[in-house]
Amino acid sequence: MDITFLGTGTSQGIPIIGSDHPVCLSNDPRDKRLRVSILVEWDNFTYVVDCGPDFRQQMLANNVSKIDGILFTHEHNDHIIGLDDVRPFYFKQGDISVYAHQRVIKALKKRFDYVFETVNKYPGAPSLDVKEINDNPFKIGNLEVIPVNVLHHKLQVYGFRFGDFAYITDAKTIAEEEIAKLKGVKVLTVNALRKEPHLSHFNLEEALAFIKKVNPEKAYLTHVSHLLGFHKDVEKELPTNVFLAYDNLKITI
Ligand SMILES: [Zn+2]
Repeated sequence: MDITFLGTGTSQGIPIIGSDHPVCLSNDPRDKRLRVSILVEWDNFTYVVDCGPDFRQQMLANNVSKIDGILFTHEHNDHIIGLDDVRPFYFKQGDISVYAHQRVIKALKKRFDYVFETVNKYPGAPSLDVKEINDNPFKIGNLEVIPVNVLHHKLQVYGFRFGDFAYITDAKTIAEEEIAKLKGVKVLTVNALRKEPHLSHFNLEEALAFIKKVNPEKAYLTHVSHLLGFHKDVEKELPTNVFLAYDNLKITI
């Protein structure tokens, strides 16, 4: 299975518009972070987790020519607002499968009302094949996905386990019984916003403590703010099996 980090930045991305913070001004390509999303590919299957404002750019940068579906973690804007840009895939492939919690589906219907229109729908609008998911494992292609509940302050968010790989973003707290679902995972991705504590995100210390608890062979950090620091500096501070993800990084599991 190949995982591509399409975006590794927090909601505003890095650089932030108009910011003169040194990290925002950095020339290191690893300090330029689009909004979080990953591409998951195996056999002939291609799935995307989340579809934020940089979706179009991410698909172009990685030459993605078809997608089998989109899995949504939650309905915050930085995770859903690129959905209209599934149109090129829809024109070629037909209805695009999306997997989301009931609450997220409701939010999509509100934000993209024209996509769900049944009377006089504009012909250029995309169509979706919406699949409601709950805490039960579900199948994408020939693979079983295990949803993992995390809390983003008080909001329920889904992390996903794809066999030996798990992807968790926008977590601040995770119940023990949910952590148990990650047992034995070889590669874990988890959010680490910055060094200072935050109301709804793991900071670096919390992310590292969580990784230690899950004990994967390797872990990657994502959903990073410019406040975490320069990629090259943060990397040096991490345990040997923990890496700071960066945009377009590809790993094979
Ligand atoms: Zn987010």
